[in-house]
Amino acid sequence: MTAEERTVVVVGTGVAGATAALTLRSEGFDGQVVLIGDEPDEPYRRPPLSKDVLRGTTPHERTRLRPSQTWQQQDIELRTSSSVSRLDTGAKVLGLADGEELGYDMLLLATGGRPRELPCTAGMTDVHTLRTLTDVPALRERLAPETSVLVIGAGLIGAEVAASARAMGCGVIMLESAPAPLPRLLPPAIAEVYSRLHRDQGVDLHTGVDVTQLERIDLGLLATDANERHWLADTVVVAIGMVPRTELAEQAGIDVDNGIVVDEYFRTSAPGVFAAGDVANQPNPVLGGRHRVEHWQSAQEQGAAAAKSMLGDRTPYERVPWCWSDQYGVNLQFTGWPAAGDDVIVRGELEQREFTAIFRRDGRLVGAVGVNRAAEIRALRKLIIEAPFLDPALLADESVNLATVHSAELSTVAT
Ligand SMILES: Cc1cc2nc3c(=O)[nH]c(=O)nc-3n(C[C@H](O)[C@H](O)[C@H](O)COP(=O)(O)OP(=O)(O)OC[C@H]3O[C@@H](n4cnc5c(N)ncnc54)[C@H](O)[C@@H]3O)c2cc1C
Repeated sequence: MTAEERTVVVVGTGVAGATAALTLRSEGFDGQVVLIGDEPDEPYRRPPLSKDVLRGTTPHERTRLRPSQTWQQQDIELRTSSSVSRLDTGAKVLGLADGEELGYDMLLLATGGRPRELPCTAGMTDVHTLRTLTDVPALRERLAPETSVLVIGAGLIGAEVAASARAMGCGVIMLESAPAPLPRLLPPAIAEVYSRLHRDQGVDLHTGVDVTQLERIDLGLLATDANERHWLADTVVVAIGMVPRTELAEQAGIDVDNGIVVDEYFRTSAPGVFAAGDVANQPNPVLGGRHRVEHWQSAQEQGAAAAKSMLGDRTPYERVPWCWSDQYGVNLQFTGWPAAGDDVIVRGELEQREFTAIFRRDGRLVGAVGVNRAAEIRALRKLIIEAPFLDPALLADESVNLATVHSAELSTVAT
């Protein structure tokens, strides 16, 4: 950034945007920083929403990303409940929904995503989704003991809502169109572990189900699938993924393809405009091609990296995705880009729910999923970059401590 470029505007007060604003300051930028978002709350952590916040064991205030005074202390102009509706990249001006115009020298779009709608529930006010803090109270109120909830979608958020609802004493039906839960995170053999986990906890799980109709009848909400099967519940939660919020970028003519297209420095196709977090479609540093990642830590790391890039840092972003999920006290961690068809090596016991599954493609380490094995996932996240062609026999050998053996030694053994 040159001396004349004094105003950075960040759209999106999620973790990517907030981290970017804080990083600009920690890296010494002393110009104006405006952090603007349409949610009423100051920046907060989203992951607890489907876990302890929904269950009511963590109060709203405990989700704050930083103490409230941070923004003022850091001289970051935080504007909540402000929607940006227009972007002119030629004039470098943003238009707010209330008519105000805001100029910028550099802009970060960290606009995240919104819940994907199920077409047959469009416009139904008594169907819940879960993305923001404001979604929680109405849903929590519905999850009274002995009531029934139908969760449509067994991805990360749906599966966590199901687990929380069981903990709150609800009867839970969960419907998933894929053959097993967590289809975007887990290959089929591992996903089966999660089918059993939910069923063991009393969830009435049905996979391979496409819900085509939802209607309110006297007894509650009735869902019908393509095969004319029916499920009845008091409350319905739709959790079928999210759609990146690309509308501002599209309106401004910025390249969009499954998210806002960025390079390894988070630059979009418009000069001075960057994008990061769930909305950014970035180059995959290991496998080539592109990926849009929807995980907390990636959004945080990308926000920090994008801010440094705005300040002129030319270190390409080469981090491997990592995320976690907690369901019924079972900790799932995931790293890399595993896919159906990868070679799988399992350390530990699937049945005992204490294992690491390691995924290789064309002889290369591409990802890992661990249940109650956080240290191994941490090690494998590094090895995916540093020693991707490890000998599979070593990876399978439980006596090899992946967390402490130096990657260079392992590479030597492998060759
Ligand atoms: C319930 C839930 C549980 C999760 N659990 C986990 C987990 O266990 N582990 C994990 O790794 N990840 C989890 N995630 C995912 C993780 O929270 C996200 O990857 C991360 O929050 C994305 O951050 P972001 O800043 O990119 O986007 P967001 O958090 O979506 O922030 C974008 C912000 O931009 C605002 N915005 C968009 N457009 C405009 C506009 N035009 N004007 C003004 N403001 C705008 C949005 O309202 C929003 O506040 C979970 C997500 C949810 C919803």
